[in-house]
Amino acid sequence: NRERIVQSERLNVVSELAASVSHEIRNPLTVTSGFLQLLNKSKTMTPEEKGFVELSLQELQRAEKIVSDYLSFAKPQSENMVYSNMKAESEYTKNIIMPYATMHKVDVQFSFNNSLNKNYDRNQIQQCLINLYKNGIEAMKETDGGTLFIDIFEKKQNIMISIKDNGVGMTKDEISRLGKPYYSTKAEGTGLGMLMVYSTVDKVKGTIEVDSEKGKGTTFLITIPT
Ligand code: ADP
Ligand code: MG
Repeated sequence: NRERIVQSERLNVVSELAASVSHEIRNPLTVTSGFLQLLNKSKTMTPEEKGFVELSLQELQRAEKIVSDYLSFAKPQSENMVYSNMKAESEYTKNIIMPYATMHKVDVQFSFNNSLNKNYDRNQIQQCLINLYKNGIEAMKETDGGTLFIDIFEKKQNIMISIKDNGVGMTKDEISRLGKPYYSTKAEGTGLGMLMVYSTVDKVKGTIEVDSEKGKGTTFLITIPT
């Protein structure tokens, strides 16, 4: 029992730390890449020097990606707890990813039909939805676009979240690796997005079903009991 208390205290410290780390790291990343972009315009640099600057910019972008996959909505737990039906969060995050979808020629179909309320951490749910939406869009970017179907509805006493893409799909083996830290098949992936998704769904006592076929597409079905 005592061990469990120590554990959960530790988890709280981690999430509080994550919140401040993400804020403290974002600013210097933005400032540094801004100055490097300016430097990159210089006409007196040698090609080799230019190469160094470009490499630095790429690395900064990678750090920014890690922060955005894992920490962009992180804030101390207590501030974000709401009792609600996820409407605000799902609409807000859908709007956030629209430019990203358009950029990859992906159409987004959104439907919301849920009146069940649940206690949840607003920022974690937002981060979780964003990570799933982004993966769906990224799965379709090589297949020259497609449609991302986001469907939130109720079934018995459960909030159901279905996110479907007609992208690259996964093999059984690939599905079994989802959520392992740093597992990514993308050149610029962090492999942290699904880890965050699984841990968030776990916190609200929900389950995730993955239905995927290589070359056809993927559906994530999340069931959250109320
Ligand atoms: P990242 O997106 O940075 O690679 P994630 O943890 O978000 O990391 O996803 C891990 C891996 O799971 C991805 O690299 C991809 O191979 C696979 N994956 C996740 N979602 C999908 C999807 N909708 N369609 C196909 N593959 C997916
Ligand atoms: Mg991802």
